[in-house]
Amino acid sequence: MRIGAHVDSAEPLVEAAARGADAVQFFLTDPQGYKSPVPRDDAEQLRASEVDIYIHAPYIVNVASPNNRIRIPSRKLLMAHAKAAAELGAKGLIVHGGHVGSGADLADGFANWRKAFEYAAKDGGLPLPVLIENTAGGDNACARRFDDLARLWDAVGEFGAGFCLDTCHAFAGGEDLTGIVDRVKSITGRIDLIHANDSKGGFDSGQDRHDNLGNGKIDPELVVAAIRAAGAPAIVETPGGADGQTADIALLRERTGG
Ligand SMILES: [Zn+2]
Repeated sequence: MRIGAHVDSAEPLVEAAARGADAVQFFLTDPQGYKSPVPRDDAEQLRASEVDIYIHAPYIVNVASPNNRIRIPSRKLLMAHAKAAAELGAKGLIVHGGHVGSGADLADGFANWRKAFEYAAKDGGLPLPVLIENTAGGDNACARRFDDLARLWDAVGEFGAGFCLDTCHAFAGGEDLTGIVDRVKSITGRIDLIHANDSKGGFDSGQDRHDNLGNGKIDPELVVAAIRAAGAPAIVETPGGADGQTADIALLRERTGG
């Protein structure tokens, strides 16, 4: 079982070693900005590393948006990140499910997701798996409630979209963690990555506030059970720097038996 952490982007392999991680996830750019990624000096080391690399797209990417001043740059930024992530030998590019504004129709969001994949196909195709992540908050999110996730997958499943299950987002988003892997897989057919996070916010609170495993509102056994059932790599996106994340990784390794 590959288990790792979301780390600072400056020296991801150093951060991985400090945590005993065999996978790392990081941002290529400011997650709140529209800047395109630039080539990295450590690309060769990252490609050659035994550590699995995952890249998280900026938070501002929202390809579902009905606002074309958000949707069009989001689409381009997603594609730029996909190309840059593939250059680093990344296993996947994680992107949040996105949302439409209040009062807007979620059907437009799903249609826009489809257009994003069509745009990518026209631009030479996605050079690595794009993993759509479930989100915690909002009433107009494409991938918070799993009945909406099912509609999203009707739109994008045929393009080979991957899925990243975040345990904090699922719990805070109001999806029961018991048996969650089977429920997701009945929709998506796959789970490529687990974001193994505890939640400071309560069940269905809509709050995206990650906590260290066993420190928040989620029974850590449910996180462990999800990783085991999915048989997927896990990344902790938890606070506390190297110390906090090392403890979270150790807990997962011990309880998943590997
Ligand atoms: Zn996450």
